[in-house]
Amino acid sequence: MNKLALFGGSKFVTDKHEAMFHWPIVTEEDDAAVLDVLHKGLMSGTEITKKFEDKMATWLGVKYALGYCNGTSGILGALWACGVGAGDEVICPSMTYWASASPVQTLGAVVNFADIEKDTLCIDPDDIEHRIGNRTKVIIVVHYAGQPCNMDKINAIAKKHNIFVLEDASHAQGSLYHGKKCGTLGDVSVMSLMTAKSFAIGEAGMLFTDNKQIFEKAMSYGFYERTGAVSEFFKSDNQISDPELLKYAGVPLGGFKHRMHQMSSAVGLIQLKYFDERSAENDKAMKYFWSQLEDIPQIKPHMTTEEGCTMGGWYYPLGYFDSKSYQEGALKKICKALTAEGVPSCSPAKNKALHLHPAFNELDLFRVGKPTAICWAERDVRQGKGACPNSEDVQNYVFSVPWFKHCEAQVIDEYVGAFHKVFAQLDDILK
Ligand SMILES: *Cc1c(COP(=O)(O)O)cnc(C)c1O
Repeated sequence: MNKLALFGGSKFVTDKHEAMFHWPIVTEEDDAAVLDVLHKGLMSGTEITKKFEDKMATWLGVKYALGYCNGTSGILGALWACGVGAGDEVICPSMTYWASASPVQTLGAVVNFADIEKDTLCIDPDDIEHRIGNRTKVIIVVHYAGQPCNMDKINAIAKKHNIFVLEDASHAQGSLYHGKKCGTLGDVSVMSLMTAKSFAIGEAGMLFTDNKQIFEKAMSYGFYERTGAVSEFFKSDNQISDPELLKYAGVPLGGFKHRMHQMSSAVGLIQLKYFDERSAENDKAMKYFWSQLEDIPQIKPHMTTEEGCTMGGWYYPLGYFDSKSYQEGALKKICKALTAEGVPSCSPAKNKALHLHPAFNELDLFRVGKPTAICWAERDVRQGKGACPNSEDVQNYVFSVPWFKHCEAQVIDEYVGAFHKVFAQLDDILK
């Protein structure tokens, strides 16, 4: 038999195939755009960023877009713009990257974590409504690893209780939900555009909304020079109209500087031109990969099959492992065996359940002698083990697979071969 690399056999995939995984795709056009900013000394301006915002708003199909220095800041600005303040509550899925939830604490508010659905890895719409209290202001949804959330149900709940929906679309640039783009489905959305994401332009993020008030508030919170400041470097550049906000013109209300670096916005203008085309190639490649693994009964793709729904650029592609028939830790061993065969990026799910993390339970961010989670809150919404079982168990049934950037069947087949080799000898690996 074909001896596993894990046990000293030879590696199945010997070439690293760097061109297959290299991201983002950068050409002379990106180079020229960056150098232009550099040589003109425009790194800290806003003129290129505004052009990029306009193009992004058109691409997504929303009225307003606001460029941020990163996605985390965009989420903070969006939350403040939605009216979140000390003692308020925000609902967020437990299994997500920390940046979906941490900015809630910056505002002195508290996260009431909901569980995820096992079959989408997105917030479970049936675990939301019972968490809503007098002070719940926002439901944050994360289109996890490109898969759109069940927005019809979520929006209906939000509407009924008159609360905002903030989409964290950092994984889902270009993903469709019933034919509509993720990022246009709630009251406001934020996309991280950092280098690892599927829309990758450096350290950057963007907020999108059709709601003028949200747009203006986010602007006032972190963009001093766009609320009317006049300085040596910035001409009077007022983009807000609300008198309540104009009163504070020139000073960012959060004390934050959320401006996007213009080298990133310049790259963004170029990347946008090719984004849909490159995402379509990602989609084709990932679908081909999974189609070649259909005969392995223990695994299946994390992929929407709903009409009109897509995975966008397949950021962080994942698979499900049928863990029920195996002992705990089986998936970790399988990933180790795959890695040994030369399969990159193969590991159990990286994001752990946040509701169990001390940062959301014990941290006294404001140094007032009390955990921030209960400092100004009307009730204690902290939760222990067992509260979000699908989130807590995710490392046992979800694993990452290589993110193929090009649909080259010959190369993908090598990785497919490694999967077949490993799963044919599962008993030996799990012994
Ligand atoms: C990457 C990411 C963010 C944060 O974006 P940054 O640009 O890294 O600050 C927020 N939410 C999710 C789900 C992410 O994956």
